[in-house]
Parts: sequence; structure tokens; C-alpha cells
Amino acid sequence: MFDNHLVKEFQNKETPFYYYDLALLENTLQAAKKGADKHGFHVHFALKANFNDRVLKSICSVGFGADCVSGNEVLKAVEIGFDASKIVFAGVGKSDKEIIAALENDIFAFNVESIQELGVINELAKAKGKKARIALRINPNVDAQTHHYITTGLEENKFGIKIWELDGCINELKTLNNIELIGIHFHVGSQITDLNVFKSLCIKINEINTWFEERGYYLKVLNVGGGLGVDYHNPDGNSIPDFEAYFNVFDQFLERKNDQEVHFELGRALVAQCGSLISKVLYVKTGLKKNFLILDAGMTELMRPALYQAYHQIERLEIKDSQTEESATANYDIVGPICESTDCFAKEVVLPETSRNDLVAIRTAGAYGEVMASRYNLREEIRYVYSDEILVK
Ligand SMILES: *Cc1c(COP(=O)(O)O)cnc(C)c1O
Repeated sequence: MFDNHLVKEFQNKETPFYYYDLALLENTLQAAKKGADKHGFHVHFALKANFNDRVLKSICSVGFGADCVSGNEVLKAVEIGFDASKIVFAGVGKSDKEIIAALENDIFAFNVESIQELGVINELAKAKGKKARIALRINPNVDAQTHHYITTGLEENKFGIKIWELDGCINELKTLNNIELIGIHFHVGSQITDLNVFKSLCIKINEINTWFEERGYYLKVLNVGGGLGVDYHNPDGNSIPDFEAYFNVFDQFLERKNDQEVHFELGRALVAQCGSLISKVLYVKTGLKKNFLILDAGMTELMRPALYQAYHQIERLEIKDSQTEESATANYDIVGPICESTDCFAKEVVLPETSRNDLVAIRTAGAYGEVMASRYNLREEIRYVYSDEILVK
């Protein structure tokens, strides 16, 4: 991904920074759009994966909607230009202020996560003389087979309404006049690489969909959430997820009644591979048992490894010419400068022998990277560079 020209440009920039390959983003979006359009599916981008302006503008311009998990994300989506009629708002703890902001913007739907929340939205909508469109976020008790920190669809997780609560839910709905039930919503986890998980989800949704039909409810929307994973181990060989196979699973296994719409909320799969964190080696510590590369980026720029032991491929960047010889390699623990022992990107990584001021790229960092940056240790604001800002030779 990084040719000599790019590496030279990087050498002239202040590090660390996120590098966004907008051409790869565009190709990824087109692949997703093609896969979804084939079946008439609707896609909302989960802003929590990345809310960088240029990234959002690209996503907005292919016509996708937005999936928000806070009032500020709703306002951001509107500001970027996402159509309010394509904005959905999920979240287990929506505050009154956030609900009001979403009502004022006439978003497409609230994904409601509890019976109590139904009452609160109803009250706030009533005060505004509005009717809020809602989908019930149902916890289907499907195991996403992913890291337990990013599993959301099990009985023990805090998200959504449990299946045994549905009776109570529809009784409550009958008393609420400022709410219109338009559909059901699910999101079982993230970084799901086994498509069988989505097949299981479809089977569960079919049962629940039928349950509502039997009780006389017409649901226009089946929102199946997001969660499609990416290949962190092979970012160049597998830079665009297999959206076609993913959408085909839903086409094959999800039973749509009449003209039911199918909605998706993809985050990671759309943006992870287009972002890399570029960092400079500050120090090399050679030890008896271990060697350390100490980078100028840390968990304050990319928290995933510290937060859930996530793997990211790390490459040393170098200018190659015809004379470049294969250099000796060494084994490194690659760490950041933050005063925490968990501030470690990777252990026992084999790299060409590396020295102070060399650059490294931490790959597949476009999702849940920049958005999680913090000012801990009073670190500098995060920087970013877009591929189209790099002058073409
Ligand atoms: C995080 C989230 C998503 C996106 O998940 P990805 O794994 O990034 O695709 C979608 N829907 C909801 C409700 C979420 O919380």
C-alpha cells in the first residue's frame, strides 16, 4: 500500500497521524452498494466507527444513511448532509436531550432498547406534538462467536429488549399514542467473520417477525444491524470485505413478508481498511529477553489493542530501490509512550532491524481508531492526512 513516494511524503509530516486512503474507501463503498442494491437493501453507516468529516462525506455521497448512538452523532450526521429520513438512533441510554434533538430533526427511527424508554420517547414526542417512529431493538440471544467484549446479542448483555419481555412491550405500546412501531432491530456483535452467525440471526428474526404478524402487527422494517468483520491479518490481500456473500446470506435466509424493507448498520466493514496509523520510532530498547520499539503513537491514538487485545498488522515503512537488500530481522514488542503497561500495540513482532526515526504503519485502523482517541497524558489533538492531499509526482 505504501510506495516510495508515499513514504517520502510521510517522512516530511509530523507524526503520529491517521492516513486515510480515500480511493480504497470509495472502492469499498461501491462494493457494498453493489451488494446491497442487488437485493434492494438499505445501508446505514455506524458513525461510531469513524466520524472523520471527509470519511463521512464520502459515505454520505454514495447515498447511505447513518446509524447514530448519541445525540451528537445525530447532529453530526445532519450537518454532514445525511438525509434525516435515513438516520436511525440506537443506544441503551439515550438522554432526554438526545431524544429531543432527534425528534426535532425528524429522524427515520429510534431503535428502542427498553420498555421504560418507550414511555420516555412517547412523553417527549407528545410535548412536541409529534409521533416518533420506533423499531424495537430485540436481543435475540444469538452468540456472535466473536470476542466477548464486543458481543452484544446474548441474554447477559445490557443491550436491547429480551424476547420474554415482548408481551409486556406490546401491551405498553397500545397505551402510547405518540409512538409508531415501524419495525424490529437487532445487532448481535462486531468483527463477525463467520457468516453462519448471520444465518442464525436470520432464523431468529424470522421467528420474531412471525410472532408480530400473528399478533396483527405490520412491521415495515427489519433492521439486522451490522457486525461484518474485516481481515486484520491480511489488509493488502483482503482489503475489501466480501459484501456480496454477506448480503446474499440475508437474501437467502431472511423471510420478508409483503414489502418489508431490510436495513443494515455497517461500521467497521466500510472503513477499517482505509485507515492506517502512521507513527515514528522514538527509541529502540535492546534487552536480554526482549527488544522494545517505543513509538510516538500510543493507546491515546489507537486504543483497540489496550482495550480488547485487538490485533493490528504493523509494518516498518522504508524507501526501497533496486539496491535495497534484505536486511536482518529482529523481534520487537511494539509499545507506545503512555504511562500504562497496557499501552502496547503488539508483542513479539518480527520486523527488519529498526532504528530511531524509522516510520511504522499500524494497519486496518480506520474503524474504532481515531474516534476513540483521548487526551490522556495531555496528548496532542489527533492529526490526519488524506490520500488526495499527497501530491502526485
Ligand atoms: C456499533 C454498532 C453497529 C456497527 O457495528 P460494526 O461492527 O462496526 O459493523 C451497528 N449497530 C449498532 C446498534 C451498533 O451499536
